[in-house]
Amino acid sequence: MNDHVQQNLKIIQARIHEYEIKYQRVPGSVALLAVSKNQSLEKIQQAIIAGQKSFGENYLQEAIPKIQFFAKENLQWHFIGLIQRNKTRKIAEYFSWAHTVTEKIIAQRLNDQRPQNLPALNICIQVNISQDPAKGGIKLNEVLPLVEFCVSLPRVRLRGLMVLPTQNSLSNEQATVFSALKILYEDLNRKGFFLDTLSMGMSDDLETAIAEGSTLVRIGTGIFGSR
Ligand SMILES: *Cc1c(COP(=O)(O)O)cnc(C)c1O
Repeated sequence: MNDHVQQNLKIIQARIHEYEIKYQRVPGSVALLAVSKNQSLEKIQQAIIAGQKSFGENYLQEAIPKIQFFAKENLQWHFIGLIQRNKTRKIAEYFSWAHTVTEKIIAQRLNDQRPQNLPALNICIQVNISQDPAKGGIKLNEVLPLVEFCVSLPRVRLRGLMVLPTQNSLSNEQATVFSALKILYEDLNRKGFFLDTLSMGMSDDLETAIAEGSTLVRIGTGIFGSR
């Protein structure tokens, strides 16, 4: 497989820009999160040299040594894996973002365990639009109560919503899921919640996600090659 990380990064950035134009999105409004799970320190280093600052990780045991190794680089680490209740402290200590909040108890713990010397932890609520049992996330009708709870917590900052569509689903099915998340997001903003992040889109559904309003795409294999 291709391990020209810097070249891949340029290609992904160019595609993001192309789709912003194609779908009348504001240029620069779609952020790129480099998903480095199962990838080596060398590959992450290449991405850093190419200017990449934000990285996503799914597993704490793997992520923490990487975060410590690159501590001087001023990076932003996003936790995008399943959050186990007994793992919230390390997430609160090591990460800038957590994309996969699904329960009040988890939001409460992240809030309580966020170190005082750090800014509030940015969080997204993961929504399971298609109610796929293989994916995490809460049902549509459970979102508003969790949003209301999260905004009451001072040490987390609710930034938006995240979705993980069913693997290998058709592009029109992905579009339906993304557009449902966008509608929910706009509805919450009309209610006054000031969300600015729609975390949706990966290597295979990048274009559809940007067409449907993503503000943050999470790209792993498209940058680093296969895992
Ligand atoms: C692994 C992963 C990604 C990246 O997937 P690619 O298909 O490699 O781009 C994005 N989001 C989440 C939540 C992931 O677990």
